[in-house]
Amino acid sequence: MFGSGFRNLIIGKGTYIHSWVDYKSALLRGHLIVVSIAVGIVYLITDWLSNIQGNAPYYVGVIVTSVITFVLNRKRKYKFANTLFLLIINLIIFLFASGGSNETGIYMLFVISGITGLALFGHKDRILAGLFALLSLILFFLSYLFGISLRPPRDLTQEYIQINFAINFTISLITGIALLYFLIEVNQSAEKELLAKNDLLAKTNRELDRFVYSASHDLRAPLSSLLGLIEVAHKTSDPAEINQCLDLMRQRVNNMDGFIKEIIDFSRNTRQEVKQEQFNLLIFIKEIVEDLKFAEGMEQIYVRLDIAPDLEIISDTTRLKVVLNNLIGNAFKYHDPQKEQQEVYIKAQVEEHMVRIDIEDNGLGIATEHQPKIFEMFYRASEKSQGSGLGLYIVQETLAKLKGAIQLRSAPAKGSTFSVWLPN
Ligand code: ADP
Repeated sequence: MFGSGFRNLIIGKGTYIHSWVDYKSALLRGHLIVVSIAVGIVYLITDWLSNIQGNAPYYVGVIVTSVITFVLNRKRKYKFANTLFLLIINLIIFLFASGGSNETGIYMLFVISGITGLALFGHKDRILAGLFALLSLILFFLSYLFGISLRPPRDLTQEYIQINFAINFTISLITGIALLYFLIEVNQSAEKELLAKNDLLAKTNRELDRFVYSASHDLRAPLSSLLGLIEVAHKTSDPAEINQCLDLMRQRVNNMDGFIKEIIDFSRNTRQEVKQEQFNLLIFIKEIVEDLKFAEGMEQIYVRLDIAPDLEIISDTTRLKVVLNNLIGNAFKYHDPQKEQQEVYIKAQVEEHMVRIDIEDNGLGIATEHQPKIFEMFYRASEKSQGSGLGLYIVQETLAKLKGAIQLRSAPAKGSTFSVWLPN
């Protein structure tokens, strides 16, 4: 409704108010103060044109106090600003209501000041809001019913009364609408927030359900297999057969260990704060490649790196390591043994506020029908997969935390390219 220049004037340029409701009520307070300054000026001009004397000090008083509350609002002294603002507007309405004419419609402003208190103090300070509403009510009764006045009665012309009525009516209508709009907006945003949280909770619940089901299955499979191997080893006395069983057992244990590591990565990603560290990308990726090559026994794969040696980026190293470990690890795992030269090509480039990292392999590729699903939890796209199908799901969730993105291009038997974008 109002420009950003006006917003900056009210709350200060570059100021960030954490709570949305506080931010909105700081803006509302600022707007109301500006309205009260404008009203003071309009009344000064009206009185001057109508040749009415004696009111100027009150108008100037309202304007000066409004400017003070404006400054308090910018300094985030919200309670102080509310109290001062409500006191001054109640007092000024009372002054003009008493000793004036009922026909100026000044009493309407008591209704507005009562609602203003509620909107500005909000639910948090509802007792103070109630006290100010009570103050407006008491002042109304004192001036309207009991005729108590702090000023001598004045003789006002019919024309002046009419102008006053028009001004008071306009202020009441505009302010009333603005207050109501504010309250509706706050309510709607609270509702939206609740719905979003609900959706998130439902998603988490569904994932947890699937997770418990699949994880227990995936943990039991190697265990049953281990038990079977132990049985076989018991029954034989042939050292070669026993050795073979031990090898297979090591494989199952490694599988389980890999799976548990993935679960830890996943849980760490949901719990830990995102860190921002500066580091050299080439050194970082070289270390990951070396570790993986050794761990997966993939020395035959030729890795080509195209990363500027001086490329420094700012990101969360623990999370990025999880992402790249999974992607580069997959590029190794799903290599194509039929190809003479098995290759993984890793390229990084800076794109406007982003770093793009491409991990390209000439491996098995992924069939088109699997491509939209491979980022799902526990999704395996091939019989060859020895993994849990959690890796790419974790990659996607981790990138979401880093405010990054991922894209896949793949053709069966040709290879796959995963492109990762990170904010930098
Ligand atoms: P997994 O534990 O099975 O490796 P991921 O979530 O890491 O689970 O990957 C999901 C599936 O996507 C894998 O089972 C595999 O079929 C396929 N996939 C992932 N990366 C590649 C790749 N670089 N080349 C071919 N297939 C891949």
